[in-house]
Amino acid sequence: MKYASYVGLEIHIHLLAKSKAFCSCAARFGDEPNTNVCPVCLGHPGVLPALNEEALFMGYRVAQALGCELSRRTIFERKNYFYPDMPKNYQISQFAAPLGVSGGFEFEVKGETRRLAIRECHLEEDAGKLIHAGSVTLIDYNRAGFPLLEIVTEPDLKDGEEAEAYLRSFRRLVRHLGVCDGNMEEGSLRCDANVSVNEEGRGLGVKVELKNMNSSRFVRMGLDYEIRRQTARLAEGKSIQQETRLWNENRDVTETMRKKESASDYRFFPEPDLPPFEPGEAFLERVAGLAIELPLGRKRRFVGVLGLAEEQADQLVEEKSVADYFESALALGAEARTAATWITGELRAQLLRSGQDIAASPLGPRRFAALLGALAEGRIQGTIAKQVLKAVLDEDKDPEAIIAERGLEQITDRGALGAMVDEVLAREAATAARVRSGDKKALAFLVGEAMKASSGRAAAGTLKEIVMERLS
Ligand SMILES: [Zn+2]
Repeated sequence: MKYASYVGLEIHIHLLAKSKAFCSCAARFGDEPNTNVCPVCLGHPGVLPALNEEALFMGYRVAQALGCELSRRTIFERKNYFYPDMPKNYQISQFAAPLGVSGGFEFEVKGETRRLAIRECHLEEDAGKLIHAGSVTLIDYNRAGFPLLEIVTEPDLKDGEEAEAYLRSFRRLVRHLGVCDGNMEEGSLRCDANVSVNEEGRGLGVKVELKNMNSSRFVRMGLDYEIRRQTARLAEGKSIQQETRLWNENRDVTETMRKKESASDYRFFPEPDLPPFEPGEAFLERVAGLAIELPLGRKRRFVGVLGLAEEQADQLVEEKSVADYFESALALGAEARTAATWITGELRAQLLRSGQDIAASPLGPRRFAALLGALAEGRIQGTIAKQVLKAVLDEDKDPEAIIAERGLEQITDRGALGAMVDEVLAREAATAARVRSGDKKALAFLVGEAMKASSGRAAAGTLKEIVMERLS
């Protein structure tokens, strides 16, 4: 018997709005517990929620980037259930008319491009946070009311590898949009999955929800485990229970959490205190005006138009600030492949060491292009360029100034180089004799010594020519 597996994801992202979804409390991490709270997000009786338009705007931007149809009239509902971290006993969410529906998102997996259908994007609010400390449980309501955008995909993924690849591409997208920091460990990007297995050709099977996967790797492992588990049960003639299961990252298994509620158990009904939101033309134009080139499209352009290698292009578009920096340097005259090699190589390494961010580093695109220019014109050597790069980062000066101050320009003058070579040959007379009798290795040694004598500044080709002339 052949089996097919179907995986859909539900991704929740914390939107980087300044305040909570339905009150004016700060939506900020790391503050003293229960300091960013007010009667609205604490669910006191008689208070009224107010819609945060900034959060809604970010939600529309994500929906637009995912190719969704944007709702002209979106409404909010109450999703009713009890949990101690949710003081109102309901969550304001969207059910009947989410802000975006029917989109699609392209990503790469196993060397191919796939398009995943997006069912909907809707805005809702987060719950507070329970902190289990020994025999007591503490509650921090700072997170209660944080604006969350939930993105639901169709069950078109086949396995953990595809889900992980999609999730990584999606994370890259929301970071490029600047609407979420994508930090899975801190919970600002969370991913639940639904998975079912069935005999091939018979459509979806019984759906199991999978939660508690706190990294993209756990998403892959959890889904692969769950697909194996369901397939094995079916092969033994057993049935699958509709339920919610948790990924146990210590034991690498999924475990039953609860029998799944169906949507009707939540008693969705329209939130009577919030009017429908109808984005006007100006709102939608602002959304469209902030549309970005998607990371995958940008990568393809870097490969197709600029001739970069796939892997290098991938590294450049991982962060929008890096891709932007790269393109600014090109606009200032840097050559594409050289710039890409330096950004993903030496510059990246030096920034990591100094803990600096490329966008804020003293080596702005203008200085970077000037440095590559000096290199391309042969005024400095590659190894010297690395020293200049470091000096710019350390001292916040123009590369030209550093080259001039330290006398780092390449030495091309044959007279000056000849004098250095003569000194080395006099000192290394025995080695010179070996070269005369045909020892090639010894020649390289002498050229290296002469280069050292020039502090790495000698024009390498000319220097070698002179050594060979002297020894012939
Ligand atoms: Zn509040």
